[in-house]
Amino acid sequence: MSEWVEASVVERIRWNDALISLRFEAELEPFEAGQFIRAGLDVDGERIGRPYSLVNAPDERPHEIYFNVVREGPLSPRLAQLRSGEGFWVAPTPNGFLTLDEIPAARDLWLLATGTGVGPFLSILKTAAPWSRFEKVVLGHSVHTQGELSYQETIREMQQRHPAQFRFVPFITREPCDGQLCQRIPASIEDGALERKAGLDLAPETAHVMLCGNSGMLQDALASLEKRGMKRHRRREPGHVSMEKYH
Ligand SMILES: Cc1cc2nc3c(=O)[nH]c(=O)nc-3n(C[C@H](O)[C@H](O)[C@H](O)COP(=O)(O)OP(=O)(O)OC[C@H]3O[C@@H](n4cnc5c(N)ncnc54)[C@H](O)[C@@H]3O)c2cc1C
Repeated sequence: MSEWVEASVVERIRWNDALISLRFEAELEPFEAGQFIRAGLDVDGERIGRPYSLVNAPDERPHEIYFNVVREGPLSPRLAQLRSGEGFWVAPTPNGFLTLDEIPAARDLWLLATGTGVGPFLSILKTAAPWSRFEKVVLGHSVHTQGELSYQETIREMQQRHPAQFRFVPFITREPCDGQLCQRIPASIEDGALERKAGLDLAPETAHVMLCGNSGMLQDALASLEKRGMKRHRRREPGHVSMEKYH
């Protein structure tokens, strides 16, 4: 396949000033839930491409990416302005190892994300695999403000479909919260608040944790999990924590 193919925007969802989802049609190669593609635009005669996780399940169309507008960034503000019918470029070969095929057997699956890092986990949760493989599935989503808790309807549907198996734990870190955890993910691992909220032990004997988001969260969450006897998972050296860094 060629390096870039055309993508056409089918729908643009503007969750707020800085959070956008683009649904689009494009001839992508088959992908696994949790993988990312590269999206690109031509700016001043130069093609600028950046990786974006797919939010849709592999068999779901249209394709979808979810991103925040980094004001000073060269690509995300421009992608955010695209409307239905407008085009951009995608590199059609998906990549990435934040997939269930890459992780070892475990009783429970913990998916912990900051911001738009929730995207690949939604793709995973839309497939049958997590529900047949794990006893319990926890999705933790940490954002600054209530208004950044996107995809609530999708998450509610998952809760309705898997009431005994699924726990959703929202975190609000920069405004007063109501029913959510009001702390960062690493702190909630340290003091047991995440386990209490999920109603489940987070232990190396039973858990595999997937982390996605900013490097500060990944580093600190890994350090907190290591204190519980967990270690980073690598292909050659199986562990309990898989991660993907957005920035
Ligand atoms: C494997 C992978 C998958 C990714 N998937 C997504 C995704 O699904 N959704 C998404 O929003 N981003 C995602 N990103 C980040 C994305 O590729 C871009 O970097 C981001 O959209 C900003 O692009 P830009 O060209 O406007 O600015 P850039 O030149 O890429 O970045 C400018 C500055 O913004 C910071 N930054 C980058 N991403 C973010 C972010 N998400 N939030 C806040 N600051 C950021 C960078 O550290 C840098 O300092 C992913 C990155 C990687 C490595």
